[in-house]
Amino acid sequence: MKNRFFHFLILILVALTTTSCKNISEVDKSNKKLLLVSFTVLEDIVKNIVGDEFNVKSITKPGMEVHGYQTTPSDLIKGSRAEVFIDNGFGFELWAEKFVSNLKVKRITIANNLKPLFIGEDAYKGKPNPHAWISPKRGIIYVDTLSRALSELKPQSKTVFKKNAEIYKNKLLEIDEDFSLFLNTLKKNQKYLVSCEGAFTYLTNDYGLKEAYLWPVNAESQITPKRMAKVINLVKTNDIPAVFCESTVSSESQLAVARETGAKFGGNFFVDSLSEKNGPASSYIDLLNHNLNLIKQAYSTK
Ligand SMILES: [Zn+2]
Repeated sequence: MKNRFFHFLILILVALTTTSCKNISEVDKSNKKLLLVSFTVLEDIVKNIVGDEFNVKSITKPGMEVHGYQTTPSDLIKGSRAEVFIDNGFGFELWAEKFVSNLKVKRITIANNLKPLFIGEDAYKGKPNPHAWISPKRGIIYVDTLSRALSELKPQSKTVFKKNAEIYKNKLLEIDEDFSLFLNTLKKNQKYLVSCEGAFTYLTNDYGLKEAYLWPVNAESQITPKRMAKVINLVKTNDIPAVFCESTVSSESQLAVARETGAKFGGNFFVDSLSEKNGPASSYIDLLNHNLNLIKQAYSTK
């Protein structure tokens, strides 16, 4: 009861501030119902399925940290007006449970329809790796899950959602097939994916690659000389041609691995967030193409 009172108080306070008034009118301008999404990658997938049928907004913005995001009173206002809250799950949005507990909103959690893969290390021991969208094969499951759930929400638009989902899935299938064909051309020593963060478990698992990383999920601070030495040894022993990092973290340690081993630094992947509009990964399709092209480019030259 006390909680609800404070929540109410916060809503009033926020409504009185100018910046938040802008946010409110943003939501109100459209007559369409609001689908509130946790992160930009998922926002783009949802938009591709619903077209003009809903107003779709992401809580976190391009380039933002998603795992440990702190929700704001303005997010709560959006949440209170949303038809549905859509999140990834598998513990990706550490803030999601608390956020929805303050709201009476329907929820679609993609992870409920996904088979988890585990990273099995440190804080993530026994917990699923949340970054399933990083594999185009799993991306297709995201689309099917959303198309089904949104059709239940708005049965009169079922045909539109289904048609949009088919078109979108074909684009993902094309990326999937193209990448599989490329991987067939690789030698055994190239079938590794060495990145900064352990965010590629679904990609490596789905495409017969081996994953190696400098630190597990969201634990940049855990980079130690021992971990560095382990990766350096792996790269040298297996003559791995390239190593990579992610756009949201520092590449310094991985550049050191490249220098030490003679492997090429293959560039930065996009994982948890899309880039800004003019960036290399401003849509989910672009994010996948950017990541897979980095692998292709780095592995084709050696
Ligand atoms: Zn992440």
